[in-house]
Amino acid sequence: MSAEPDVNARSSSASEGSAMGKDGMAALVQVLRRRGFTVVGPTVRDGAIVLAQLESADELPYGWGVELEAGRYRLRERTDGAAFANAAGPQSWKQFLHPAKLRQWRADRVGEEMVFSDEAPSSPRYAFLGVRPCDARAIAIQDRVLTGGIHRDSGYLGRRAGALLVAIECTEPGGTCFCVSMGAGPAAAPGCDLVMTEVVDDEGHRFWIRGASPEGDEILAELPVRPADPVTCAAARASVAAAADRMGRAMPETDLRELMGGTLDAPRWDDVAGRCLTCGNCTMVCPTCFCTTTEDVTDLSGDHAERWRLWDSCFDLDFSLVHGDPVRTSPRSRYRQWMTHKLGTWYDQFGSSGCVGCGRCIVWCPVGIDITEEAAALHDWTRSDTSGEAP
Ligand code: SF4
Ligand code: SF4
Repeated sequence: MSAEPDVNARSSSASEGSAMGKDGMAALVQVLRRRGFTVVGPTVRDGAIVLAQLESADELPYGWGVELEAGRYRLRERTDGAAFANAAGPQSWKQFLHPAKLRQWRADRVGEEMVFSDEAPSSPRYAFLGVRPCDARAIAIQDRVLTGGIHRDSGYLGRRAGALLVAIECTEPGGTCFCVSMGAGPAAAPGCDLVMTEVVDDEGHRFWIRGASPEGDEILAELPVRPADPVTCAAARASVAAAADRMGRAMPETDLRELMGGTLDAPRWDDVAGRCLTCGNCTMVCPTCFCTTTEDVTDLSGDHAERWRLWDSCFDLDFSLVHGDPVRTSPRSRYRQWMTHKLGTWYDQFGSSGCVGCGRCIVWCPVGIDITEEAAALHDWTRSDTSGEAP
């Protein structure tokens, strides 16, 4: 593994690869653990499919699917026993690579002096099992944001360089998914070490698995696999292709960057501001949102102080506080800032969209605000008589 993340060093697929059954999945978790990885993957907890440390593949959500709609998330049982036929859950991998709360330094009074320490908390070497294509793209976007410029987040760099990514191609998009519109799925993109596609049909329950990096190839060599047969490969490809045609949502077919730049005065922003609670949920669940704030804490004696870095949200009034007053005082200005940054000015800053179409912000918005619906309304406005009538 290189010292720095280089997503282009890994390819999305190589040969026709291998096939394995559920025993292979069980072996994969154990091989990763033996190699010293902390394995993190999807599991059912608290009525949702969350990302958590796995001791064995038995903890994967075999037989569980999800129903996703604006402001609504429900687990549902599946009859086919599939483990990965469920779309993005409430969390993303950013909670491990770019943690929500991180101590930056501490200071202790020793005699007459204050002694500062900035020792970084140690981080395990993660193996992320079941990274969806949209989330792999989101990791690549955070790589660019947090390590691609002059100011690099050394902590992120260390956690990311040590991480191994096992991708799962999507075969069951959710009702709020639109990765196709954003060019982020449902087939695996470059940047992962192993790529899997789950197949459940009359031939049985199996995984088509391909090595996509030297380390991925080494791990694959330790698994109980067989050469992939044409039936399995064809079924896997057909499932992924079918998933692309079953996206629950779509963005309007237009240049979204131009759309954002040309609609800053659209009346639709007032409409959405009337619904938005400015709670910031959408930014917390978004796999690419990266903003942070700092908080200093001290004990009552004044002998000990710490500085913490915490996730922040552009929906917070204090986020744009400059010289005593916030710049974005209205919900209208804060929602507009978030959406125009995601779909427009992110290109100017980082050379890509800031949205991968995972749909989390739609599902976890308490009032069901839907970024695709808002984009469509703005698009309609540009095509209508723009004399002031809001779509
Ligand atoms: S769009 Fe929804 S999730 Fe985001 S701040 Fe507004 S109410 Fe909260
Ligand atoms: S803006 Fe919404 S759909 Fe896009 S990446 Fe963020 S959470 Fe996912």
